Amino acid sequence: MAQTHILGYPRIGAQRELKKAQEAYWRGEIAQSELLQAGAEIRRGNWQAQRDAGLERVTVGDFAWYDQVLNHTLMFGAVPRRFSEGAADNKLDQYFRLARGRAPSGEPVAASAMTKWFDTNYHYLVPEFTAEQAFALDAEWLLAEVREAQQQGHRVKPVVIGPLTYLWLGRADGDALALLPKLLPCYQQLLQQLAAADVDWVQIDEPILGLDLPGEWRAAFAPGYAQLCAAAPSLKLLLATYFSPLRENLPLVFGLPVAGVHIDCVRAPEELPAALEALGAEQVLSVGVVNGRNIWRADLARWQAALQPLQQQLGERLWLSAGCSLLHCPVDLDTEQKLLPPQRQKLAYARQKLHELQQLQALLQNTAAVDKSAVSAPVDASATAGELADTWRPQRYVERAKRQRERLQLPPLPTTTIGSFPQTDLLRQTRRQFRSGELSEQDYLDHLRAEIAEAVRRQEILGLDVLVHGEAERNDMVEYFGEQLHGFVHTGNGWVQSYGSRCVKPPIIFGDISRAQPMTVEWSRYAQSLTKKPVKGMLTGPVTILNWSFPREDIPRSESCLQIAKALRQEVQDLEAAGIGIIQIDEPALREGVPLRESGHQGYFDWAVACFRYTCATVQAETQIHTHMCYSNFNAIMEAIVALDADVITIESARSDLRLLESFAGKQGGYPNEIGPGIYDIHSPNVPEREELVARLRKVAEVIPREKLWVNPDCGLKTRSWAEVGSALLNMVEAARTLRAELDVTESA
Ligand code: GLN
Ligand code: ZN
Repeated sequence: MAQTHILGYPRIGAQRELKKAQEAYWRGEIAQSELLQAGAEIRRGNWQAQRDAGLERVTVGDFAWYDQVLNHTLMFGAVPRRFSEGAADNKLDQYFRLARGRAPSGEPVAASAMTKWFDTNYHYLVPEFTAEQAFALDAEWLLAEVREAQQQGHRVKPVVIGPLTYLWLGRADGDALALLPKLLPCYQQLLQQLAAADVDWVQIDEPILGLDLPGEWRAAFAPGYAQLCAAAPSLKLLLATYFSPLRENLPLVFGLPVAGVHIDCVRAPEELPAALEALGAEQVLSVGVVNGRNIWRADLARWQAALQPLQQQLGERLWLSAGCSLLHCPVDLDTEQKLLPPQRQKLAYARQKLHELQQLQALLQNTAAVDKSAVSAPVDASATAGELADTWRPQRYVERAKRQRERLQLPPLPTTTIGSFPQTDLLRQTRRQFRSGELSEQDYLDHLRAEIAEAVRRQEILGLDVLVHGEAERNDMVEYFGEQLHGFVHTGNGWVQSYGSRCVKPPIIFGDISRAQPMTVEWSRYAQSLTKKPVKGMLTGPVTILNWSFPREDIPRSESCLQIAKALRQEVQDLEAAGIGIIQIDEPALREGVPLRESGHQGYFDWAVACFRYTCATVQAETQIHTHMCYSNFNAIMEAIVALDADVITIESARSDLRLLESFAGKQGGYPNEIGPGIYDIHSPNVPEREELVARLRKVAEVIPREKLWVNPDCGLKTRSWAEVGSALLNMVEAARTLRAELDVTESA
């Protein structure tokens, strides 16, 4: 009989208990013992849920107080000096100091960098390695959790991140791979300690095997795993890969001396035959067939049909699982209050996915006829190709820019902001009151109008050139549109961890998407009625709406994206008709949908970029289209950004110290249209000095021609206070004036 297991379970708790306990602990409201207790309760519940669903072993080691990569950094003693020098404090406090940026003295120091875990929306803390990096094992937390689960009567399967993936994820002074010989002894000891703790199987995650790996990294696997496997011969290793096809690494993976291999059949079902072929005579094959990254029920009949022959061939050597850890999906549908029965019926959160594995196991036991009609058709992107064939605006940028200049009459180096203004406590409270019915719609709308009027008034006083309405009506840039479009469903408790104590609640693309009615037009029209300066209309782009939602699985993502683009095009047209001369379409999540393998990039960008252009392809030449993105490292996607063909792009660049401007200003292949490099970091509460901004602008003006340069912060201001925003923008406007004067002088000289 096939066995069932999972690679990992969400650790936030069904009611986000972990978040609540963490934050209370950070605020000093609860003792550490209470926090520890809350974590133990979550683990107990998670293991019990696995046991209740008949899983042979519960997974241990997937719990983390903040992040699983950070767990390993502490386990291997790779704590950067700024967090360790001085007092030796409590281990958990040290752990939080790495995550939150505090020295042992309590002084603020740079927190560990955070970045996305492969192509998910989960962020891990990036390990930092020095050239002289030393490692020393302290696996007490993992061993303690193993004992804890065993004491609760479970058979356990601990999970650790493999040594090559761990090194790959870090930032090294020099070559991270060179550290492998120093790190492997820690893993060897770790495996020995686990073997001594009565563990039989260990899951070791190496998701980098789904990347285009450099040759030296590939070559390091065989000798590295030979050492690991020899260290604890009684222990069986399950090598887990996920998120991406193995391709050229497939023979390598199955050739390792590991007792089993997990492959992600959700992401790469086509590799199942090759995996079976390559499987060693005694190796276990774990197939991930339930989607750990989405909320739809699995098509079990389809998997029954596909796996029946494997079951016959492999018997107990076939393991059933989800494609990846269930960390990336919400916890328990039974706690969901908001959905209607017909919606609920189609969904499975983590706990329901455990039962799907159990059901599949039962289906495979019984060789009764399989309903082949349930096998879903493979999804391909060709359906949208025709409609996306020509999405370019009829006039080229040069022609458009001329007309826009005539219409808008902006000064050189125009100043603007990215869209949102502070979401004050009062505003949030008013929204809550409206949602709970305490406040009438009329009162709520009046309040929003007052907020907008105030934002416009402040911007006029500050002397900004292109104004915004301030997004007071939005709590979230995707949810706001999702709530108004047909086709989306919003959950009440569909939280997924994003980082640390932060969770997101992505909407579900449930059906075909279309626009019911204008979504933003009245707000923009109202703001524009209050001022002679141009007000930018503000939309979230189709790719970002798609990438921050749970997508459908029955149609290609490109098709959902086009549906969203069609709805947004109507909105763009209505804004234009309402006299809005500048429309910004934000795409901060464009990069997130990029496939992990380079070979998939072009296919993705082809439709994603065309969908963006589709939203604004019909506007007049004199209507100016802006877009905004906020992450550094644009180099890899520069070509796609250029192809968006926005008249103006505003980008994050303050934190990356303007380095990325090089790609935008690049001699060849730079950004050909106008650019607003964020000149200060809105994530920091520090108000930038005027002189600092002038200096920064001078540097920017050296690489970007003045007629293409805009002046703006690097992202929206909704998380800041009005006091910070007022002073920062005043300095920014003055810096722009200083620079205009300087440039005038150099030009007339
Ligand atoms: N217009 C949005 C804002 O200003 C953009 C947010 C974002 O880039 N994530 O808040
Ligand atoms: Zn941004």
